[in-house]
Amino acid sequence: VFVSSEATILHADLDAFFAAVEQRDDPRLLGRPVIVGSWVVLAASYEAKARGVRTAMSVGRARRFCPGAIVVEPRMVAYSQASKDVYRVFEDLSPRVEGLSIDEAFLDVRGVRRLTGPPPKVAALLRREVRERVGLPITVGVARTKFLAKVASGVAKPDGLLVVPPERELAFLHPLEVERLWGVGPVTARRLHDLGIITVGEVAELGEDVLVRLLGRAAGRQLYALARNRDPRTVRPRRRRASIGAQRALGRAPTSLEEVDASLAGLVDRVARRMRLAGRTGRTVVLRLRFDDFSRATRSHTLPYPTASTRTILDAARSLLVLASPLIARRGITLVGVSVGNLGDGRSFQPALPFDRDTDALDAALDEVRLRFGSAAVTRAVLLGRDRPAMPLLPD
Ligand SMILES: [Mg+2]
Repeated sequence: VFVSSEATILHADLDAFFAAVEQRDDPRLLGRPVIVGSWVVLAASYEAKARGVRTAMSVGRARRFCPGAIVVEPRMVAYSQASKDVYRVFEDLSPRVEGLSIDEAFLDVRGVRRLTGPPPKVAALLRREVRERVGLPITVGVARTKFLAKVASGVAKPDGLLVVPPERELAFLHPLEVERLWGVGPVTARRLHDLGIITVGEVAELGEDVLVRLLGRAAGRQLYALARNRDPRTVRPRRRRASIGAQRALGRAPTSLEEVDASLAGLVDRVARRMRLAGRTGRTVVLRLRFDDFSRATRSHTLPYPTASTRTILDAARSLLVLASPLIARRGITLVGVSVGNLGDGRSFQPALPFDRDTDALDAALDEVRLRFGSAAVTRAVLLGRDRPAMPLLPD
């Protein structure tokens, strides 16, 4: 396996991401302890973390640690948009981006030296661009291996940049506490502490055989390799999904076209919401049907423009259902599915209809209500009494 002799891997990680978006969008929150979450802390600003607030703690407990905290409801649509904006900065800087989560990615920047400069310069530029274009603080670690780049960003947080040159790797790594090693949770840490082992350097000195006996073969070998900064993993840009879909079994009892239509509306709601959360738009709407005799049929329609609008996708899916209705009448239906393919990344988004701005606003509002109260909180009037108990809130 080829491992670079130069530090070209960046680990970029937004700082207190959800809380930072809230502080960006409401200047009154700047410099103050902010907690994002309704029941459980999803994110805490550094001001709140300094007072002992931690992610996944109950909001009630967090308030006791930090009585002055401002608690805000999560706004997933805003975070999803911010994440997309940040990934756009990543992808403008390097073609080799491997996303780890909504707020964290590896970049290999070895190929952009001539165009942009050496890795430390790219890392500084990345931080400046994210700050200027998205308004958020981000920390970057730079190293020769993925593992070490991630350790470096962890050490540099918040709003920091840390470059580990190849000749300084072990000098940097070995004084750190064992908890910094990937895969060392509280249980493993306690086992190591019981042996008087506190630092990564002490783990490396133990030797592989001892670690394997202590932690098992896989964990022991991995820990030994990491303590020596052996990590052959390369940055792999992930292939994004080609379509997003959902389906629903209808049972073998005869089903009317109205019932199929109602199920279809629920499926489209789900698919369109997932597309918007992922920041994707698509052009091809596919209807899938399965019949009593186990035969199948698919019908598809390609729109002239990409969309993630519930209304536009539902209109297309409904017209496909009408086209397939003679088949349904003849064979009886047991499953309906809908998917949207031909996906883009949402950047080339065009309004589908003159009144699409209103439906977009409605989509966004529904997305937030579902996020807060669960997907059964809002449902179409036609679905009432079919799904789980639901609150009728909105006209179809
Ligand atoms: Mg983060």
